[in-house]
Amino acid sequence: MKQTPKTNLFNEHRTHKIVIIGSGKVGTTFAYTLLLYGLAGEIVLIDVDKERTEGEVMDLKHAIPLTNPTRIYQGDYSDCQGADIVVITAGTAQRPGETRLDLLKRNIDIFKHIIPQIVQYTCEAILLVATNPVDILSYATQKISALPASRVIGSGTVLDTSRFRWLLGNHFSLDARNIHAFIIGEHGDSEVAVWSSANIAGMPIDAYCRLMGCEIPASQREEFSKQVRNAAYEIIQRKGATFYAVAAGLARIVESILRNQNSVLSVSNMVLGYYGIHDIYLSLPAVVGEHGIEHILELPLSRSEAKALCTSADVLKNLLGQLEI
Ligand code: NAD
Repeated sequence: MKQTPKTNLFNEHRTHKIVIIGSGKVGTTFAYTLLLYGLAGEIVLIDVDKERTEGEVMDLKHAIPLTNPTRIYQGDYSDCQGADIVVITAGTAQRPGETRLDLLKRNIDIFKHIIPQIVQYTCEAILLVATNPVDILSYATQKISALPASRVIGSGTVLDTSRFRWLLGNHFSLDARNIHAFIIGEHGDSEVAVWSSANIAGMPIDAYCRLMGCEIPASQREEFSKQVRNAAYEIIQRKGATFYAVAAGLARIVESILRNQNSVLSVSNMVLGYYGIHDIYLSLPAVVGEHGIEHILELPLSRSEAKALCTSADVLKNLLGQLEI
């Protein structure tokens, strides 16, 4: 059997292998982002729609001479062998008249089909889930795979946090990368904007406002939180789906794992005991490195933020209670 080379001419380091399950809008945009960043030496796409995936792979391959030397191909589950990270973006869309719960049950069934096939070929890879509802499906992935929770991660509120930071950066006319502020909890309607510790280069937002003679009144804060919460609805209403920012978020998580950057990212992970929340996946700031989740950080929260986080956990617990995983 021909061995896949682990290094190549252009990269003296071991090349990284990323498998993407689901080559729809999110999966292929993520593959393209990986290609542009040159993060992986090998990218495998797996999808039930083989013809479209073949077309996606052809299109992506034609960008290789213009971007980064990468092996991109359509594969099957046996290609999960040797993967560093398997990213799951496969899912089904809501049918007319279908409830969110019915959709969730159908996605759980898809995951019951996908996850055992992944772990049949790899127990070493980190699994990164993007399919919605991401917290529930990350929880299901951990339970079905029986992998350590540190190696089953949901993209969580990485996207929402990015939206929040962009809004604040835009408001203050500042580089959003200098804004440190998190959205935590469910990736969805009950998510929580953590204003109490939001800061600009270490300076609390209120102190920055005093220094600069500007302000961000309570009504404006509520409006920003609402805009973050409703961003996906607003985008879907206009263009049918969201995929660029989530793809960038997935690439950011993958970069932190592959390069062992220990970046603090609001990924979804198993919460065991923080803020009294137990046995549930939701987003809290976590250190993400080569082992997956290295630590979860217990961010100091105001009383109202802590209460909202517990309500968010209750929403997810309630949903989980209606499912058979
Ligand atoms: P899409 O419909 O374009 O792609 C889904 C793909 O999954 C399709 O190509 C489909 O053929 C494939 N698929 C379905 N069943 C499969 C199976 N059993 N095995 C393999 N592949 C299978 O959808 P999309 O726009 O790419 O979105 C994908 C998911 O990502 C959705 O659940 C969406 O809500 C979610 N999403 C998450 C975030 C986030 O922040 N976590 C953001 C945007 C979208």
